[in-house]
Amino acid sequence: MEQIEKFRQDILNSTSEAPHIASLKEETRLTGGLPIIRDMGRTWALKADLSVVLLYTDCWESENKSELGEIVEDNVMRCFVVAYAAIDYPELVSLVLERPANTSDCMCSRKDDLKIFGETCKICNGLGWIPSQWVSK
Ligand SMILES: [Zn+2]
Repeated sequence: MEQIEKFRQDILNSTSEAPHIASLKEETRLTGGLPIIRDMGRTWALKADLSVVLLYTDCWESENKSELGEIVEDNVMRCFVVAYAAIDYPELVSLVLERPANTSDCMCSRKDDLKIFGETCKICNGLGWIPSQWVSK
C-alpha cells in the first residue's frame, strides 16, 4: 500500500522539534509502519502490507518485548486499526474491512453515555464498535 509508505515518509521527514513529533517519528521508525493508535504506553502501527504491529513504548512494559514491536495476529484488532486509520487518513478508506463478528458495541452507542465523550467518541472514534477485549469486565 503506497499511501501508507508516503504518510510514513512525511512523518520521518518532519523537521519539527516538538517532543510529540519526536516520539511519533521514533515509533514510525521502530515499527516500520504508520502509528495509528497511541495510548497508555502502546502503539499500534499499520504496515504497508496491512499487517499491524504492536509496539510497547512504556519502558516498564517493554521488558521481554521486542524493541521493534510484534505482529498482531488478532484479526479483530487488525480490522479496528485499519478502520481507525481511515479516520485520520481518508485515502485509506478503501482498505476498511467490514466490522468483524466478535466485536462489541462501543459504550457511546448507549445514548446516556454519549455526553461523556462530546460529539465524537474518543474510544471508537465514531466507529461505534470496539474489539471485545477492550470492554471492561
Ligand atoms: Zn464509541
